[in-house]
Amino acid sequence: MASKEGMVVVVTGGSGLVGQAIQSVIKETNPPNEKWIFLSSKDADLKNAEETRALFQKLKPTHVIHLAAMVGGLYRNMKYNCDFLRFNLQINDNVLESCKEMKVKKVVSCLSTCIFPDKTTYPIDETMVHNGPPHHSNYGYSMAKRMIDVMNRVYHEQYGCNFTSVIPTNVYGPYDNFNLEDGHVLPGLINKVHESQKNGTTLCVWGSGKPRRQFIYSRDLAKLMIWALREYPEITPIILSVGEEEEVSIKEAADLVIEAFDFKGEVIYDTSKSDGQFKKTASNTKLRKYLPDFKFTPIRQGIKETVEWFVQNQDIARK
Ligand code: NAP
Ligand code: GDP
Repeated sequence: MASKEGMVVVVTGGSGLVGQAIQSVIKETNPPNEKWIFLSSKDADLKNAEETRALFQKLKPTHVIHLAAMVGGLYRNMKYNCDFLRFNLQINDNVLESCKEMKVKKVVSCLSTCIFPDKTTYPIDETMVHNGPPHHSNYGYSMAKRMIDVMNRVYHEQYGCNFTSVIPTNVYGPYDNFNLEDGHVLPGLINKVHESQKNGTTLCVWGSGKPRRQFIYSRDLAKLMIWALREYPEITPIILSVGEEEEVSIKEAADLVIEAFDFKGEVIYDTSKSDGQFKKTASNTKLRKYLPDFKFTPIRQGIKETVEWFVQNQDIARK
């Protein structure tokens, strides 16, 4: 990867799942002439305009990867739709306006495939972001995220800003949020299987197990986001996803977690719990035009590594 002279790259949300993966890739590649700064909510509450502006004035970034967000799995989204909308709108407005004020050369923000219309044709592609309402379960989060794309366009049109975005599918990996109420499906299942194995109890998978998801390993996403910061030339978003053929059902994902733990106990599916969106199958055709040879980590290997990290990092894992 080509590095640019004197880059100061600020990563908002640098302490989370995706931020930690970018930290680890940057540590390994140690790009010359680049200073990378990874922020957490301890550096500033990005919901607060003054704190955000003061931090950006202090750090003077030339480039920004914007990850900070209120994030959660299906069940957290269903409970706090209003907070997801408001907090994320506030964070995004403060961060992008500070980037404009500081004349940041490029910003890459993070959307998500759950923001696409629920009623759609498949595979979903980048042109469909605003085509119809998102699934009701995460309406607030989705609408706030969609607005980033709108902001990127109008900041470009009116002020010439080079703000763009990426659209990852469900992410998983070390440093995820393994909390059962708040987290996404894979960290939730990893935490549950670990508990069931330790206590000899039944594993309860929520919902029918039939919905389908494409999962991207956080390390793969980190590499692709670093590439996007350096090379991706468009304002309009790019989907960062494994191929459509790599999509798995929740049951298949649960079976891979069970296999990684070699769990032999009973497994039940609680169909009284919501299934959420049935699928959001995304096309990676655009990504493949730019990076035909990028190799994604096979999901079996990614889950195994994440399970190992979780088991070995019980003291620091969010759960
Ligand atoms: P995460 O692990 O929950 O990390 C969230 C990050 O945002 C943390 O660094 C957190 O700081 C920071 N943050 C939250 N509220 C903040 C605030 N008010 N002020 C400052 N910082 C704040 O989330 P993630 O999974 O890495 O998500 C990163 C990005 O990827 C998000 O934009 C998310 O929408 C997107 N994304 C995630 C997924 C997924 O499956 N996880 C899928 C698609 C897109 P603290 O550590 O200090 O709390
Ligand atoms: P989504 O992809 O935005 O819907 O969010 P999640 O990552 O939370 O995945 C939700 C899907 O996984 C739904 O079909 C749930 O029924 C299913 N699921 C099964 N077990 C769990 C679990 O322990 N936690 C979560 N969050 N979802 C689960």
